[in-house]
Amino acid sequence: MFTIKGKSGDWEIVIGLETHIEVLSNSKIFSGASANYNPTIAPNTQVSFVDAAMPGMLPVLNDYCVDQAIKFGLGINAEISHLSCFARKQYFYPDLPQGYQISQPADQPPVVGRGWVEIIGDDGNPKKILIERAHLEQDAGKLKHDMHPTKSFADYNRTGVTLLEIVTFLDVKNPENNSYISSPDEAERYLRQIREIARALGVSKANMEEGSMRADVNVSVRRAGSNTFNERCEIKNMVSFKFIKTAIEYEARRQIEILESGGTIERNTMRYNQGDGTTSVLRSKEDALDYRYFPDPDLLPLEITDERIERIRRTMPELPAATRARYIEKYGLSEYDAARLTETTDISKWFDTAIGDKPTRAKPIANWMISELFAHPENYDIENQKSGIVDGMRIITPSDLSELVDMISANEINGKQAKEIFIKMLDGENGSPKEIADKFGMKQMTDTGAIEKIIDDVLSQNTPQVEQYKSGKVGLFGFFVGNVMRATDGKANPGVVNEILKKKLG
Ligand code: ADP
Ligand code: MG
Repeated sequence: MFTIKGKSGDWEIVIGLETHIEVLSNSKIFSGASANYNPTIAPNTQVSFVDAAMPGMLPVLNDYCVDQAIKFGLGINAEISHLSCFARKQYFYPDLPQGYQISQPADQPPVVGRGWVEIIGDDGNPKKILIERAHLEQDAGKLKHDMHPTKSFADYNRTGVTLLEIVTFLDVKNPENNSYISSPDEAERYLRQIREIARALGVSKANMEEGSMRADVNVSVRRAGSNTFNERCEIKNMVSFKFIKTAIEYEARRQIEILESGGTIERNTMRYNQGDGTTSVLRSKEDALDYRYFPDPDLLPLEITDERIERIRRTMPELPAATRARYIEKYGLSEYDAARLTETTDISKWFDTAIGDKPTRAKPIANWMISELFAHPENYDIENQKSGIVDGMRIITPSDLSELVDMISANEINGKQAKEIFIKMLDGENGSPKEIADKFGMKQMTDTGAIEKIIDDVLSQNTPQVEQYKSGKVGLFGFFVGNVMRATDGKANPGVVNEILKKKLG
């Protein structure tokens, strides 16, 4: 369990995340206007009368967005509600012309009910993070305050774009249930998992830098081993993994200090200050917003049939958790390796492509990827699977790696030579591993007769060591192997060398 040291003992952090992801769809949630806003599109060119809240305009629910929500719900192992509804959440701010946001109220079933995702916990073991709900709602527009000295401008292109808000669950009635996020790192891993699932399903780009994923972060602290939850604060609108981690840590320490000096935590809404990594009060409990939800009379309750859920279930691709399980079961990879290779779907696709139809390649390729390739992120293009030379860098492809490991297993080259070929590729050498091996005359020596002759030479040149070995200094074995390898320019098959040496030394 992650803890923070206070003056009077250790403290645990309790974290609840409300994550908004922007749902991929051609049109907005309640209007036919394009949902594809971006900085290159002129302001207010993708705004329908519904988005502009013209009197008498009626919202019509976009079925595709509902399908997307169902798909995501299935991806997080959630119950899908057969009946849910939309309500107006009062919100008087110029970036939403309606004066209210259409959302799904917190006290009624949302489209996606209770679910869970699995992350790697701080102890290195898989950990379930429970999810309370995910609901559909509208996004607001964008205000621009920097275009005129005395005027503000509003761009409504984003107004009415579909959001799915995913809320983690805290089992308050059952405080021993630790299926919640309990450290800054786990918060990041949870968000990455949500992002992965959303991307794998095509539900959202879930990109924090582009604003298609944002999170409100609830933080409370409690004494290590305690089994009650304390009051929390909510840090609003976070858009970077790094800032989320610093904000959680700062906020937890702030609360610990207050509690240790005998104070109490008020349920405040906090802002994160990027400049110095601190949090400060945005509004206090007294000015908490009263949303005065009321059912939207313009929208029918949302009914979802089992047939619809099943139809969507049948289109689901393999999700990262299932891919991980497949790597462990089918290829015998460790939990750690499987997790590294499923960090993104692009990585697992790369890995799967490299394995092709030869499962025996899986382990060596996993090793090469994790210990070599990942150390040179500029030398592979997991996302676009480019190949050749890009921006002056040699791009290593899945087939480069499979060829390399095949050459090792066919005894054409040894591990040391493979490493040399790999380094040559990193250094910009063009051509396949086979071509590079040919060009530089890297061929493994497997001719036992020739190797035996070299071994005989090495042994006769080192008679004192041979004596020492025979009288018990077995640690010298490596010395002989090293000399033989040097004598063959590193080309000998180490297996063959070991075998013959053992025989000769008795
Ligand atoms: P609100 O209605 O104020 O948004 P919710 O009950 O919906 O609050 O909870 C919002 C998030 O805060 C959820 O993810 C929930 O798990 C989390 N949360 C609730 N209580 C605590 C607590 N004591 N410490 C940390 N997080 C909490
Ligand atoms: Mg909330």
